Amino acid sequence: MLKIDAELLRNASQSTYRAAFEQGYRWLKFDGPLEREFQAFYTEGHLLRVRLAAYLILALYAAFVVIDITTLPPAVSYWTTKIRMFGIIPIFLVLLVVSYRRAWRRYVGRTVFIASITAGVGTTAVVGVAYALGTQIPYEGMLLVTLFVYLLSCLQWRQAIAANMITLAVFIAVVTLYQPDPQLAMYQIIFMIAANSIGAYGGYFLEQSVRTMFLVNKLLNELAELDGLTGLSNRRTLNIQLDRIWRQAVRDQQAVAIAMIDVDHFKKYNDRYGHAQGDAALRAVADIIAHHARRPMDITARYGGEEFAVVWYHPSATELPRMAEILCQAVVGLNFPHADSDIGKVSISVGVALVTPSAGRSSAELLKAADLALYQAKEQGRNRVVVHVL
Ligand code: GH3
Ligand code: MG
Ligand code: MG
Repeated sequence: MLKIDAELLRNASQSTYRAAFEQGYRWLKFDGPLEREFQAFYTEGHLLRVRLAAYLILALYAAFVVIDITTLPPAVSYWTTKIRMFGIIPIFLVLLVVSYRRAWRRYVGRTVFIASITAGVGTTAVVGVAYALGTQIPYEGMLLVTLFVYLLSCLQWRQAIAANMITLAVFIAVVTLYQPDPQLAMYQIIFMIAANSIGAYGGYFLEQSVRTMFLVNKLLNELAELDGLTGLSNRRTLNIQLDRIWRQAVRDQQAVAIAMIDVDHFKKYNDRYGHAQGDAALRAVADIIAHHARRPMDITARYGGEEFAVVWYHPSATELPRMAEILCQAVVGLNFPHADSDIGKVSISVGVALVTPSAGRSSAELLKAADLALYQAKEQGRNRVVVHVL
């Protein structure tokens, strides 16, 4: 089993990804929405491999058509080439088409599943027809099909098992009925079971690793985007997202507001209550901030130290001062005692700036205006809101 760096897991935020990691995925399944996210990641990530596998299969089966015609008695090759050309090859052609059509992508998994069963059962039929007509042809292709389904088809493990079990059942029935030599029949069945064991073993760990990589990707992403202490976006993410929101606002001619938030007398708070309590207060303030900007386009970030930022997309200009006011009240409502502050409790000051973006204006200007408003809120006595409309 792949072990991920313990440090990475320790530093990761408490997300569904971390929970999935800690919970484990021995049965190759995550919980609800995460499983759906993984499926999408898996399908998208394996698209190219599925296509290559389909091309490989098509080339091999086309070659076998030629080999059948040149080596088998005509009465046998009549049937085997028909099975290959009209049974197996078309479904892999369909798979290719499905994989290239963007709108059909979500059917790729199901098509691979059907194609795998078709290849398995179809190849069994080729072997069975030859036996029934009294010709011994190599059955080893069945072993290859089995391993192909487990290791190359990019089917998920459970589906690969299901497809191969159907093939195995049909194979056992066909060999028992039509293989004239009972000892050969027994060997063929044993080797098929062995190929299934090896393939299932390899396929299991293959999918385990893909799941691990999926979670590691997500954990690293969070680590790069989120602030470790509070779980809010970090300053870098804020800058990137603000840029995006700004462009959107220019296109839609919608207002954007930024609130710069700073905890009051926080140095004294740390000095009196200790750094650990300071951290706890920052987390509590961050929770309140996160609760007050929950629409999809809103951003909440830790700007640095004891400073936070909120970006509201398309806020109501008349509601805005009240929204900031509610933040202030909610932080005082935490009731964190602060003996070195005028009101005796932890509080914040908020500077808000609002603008409807236009050419010649920039998000930097908006940030600067919010900073100035914050400075004025501090000057006027802290635990208050100052709003600038640009
Ligand atoms: P003002 O009301 O004017 O904002 O005063 P202030 O003391 O809050 O401002 P100042 O910028 O002087 O001090 C900020 C303090 O925030 C300094 C630092 O000890 C504390 N701080 C910054 N980051 C962290 C952190 O991650 N954890 C803790 N516990 N404290 C932090
Ligand atoms: Mg500060
Ligand atoms: Mg401060």
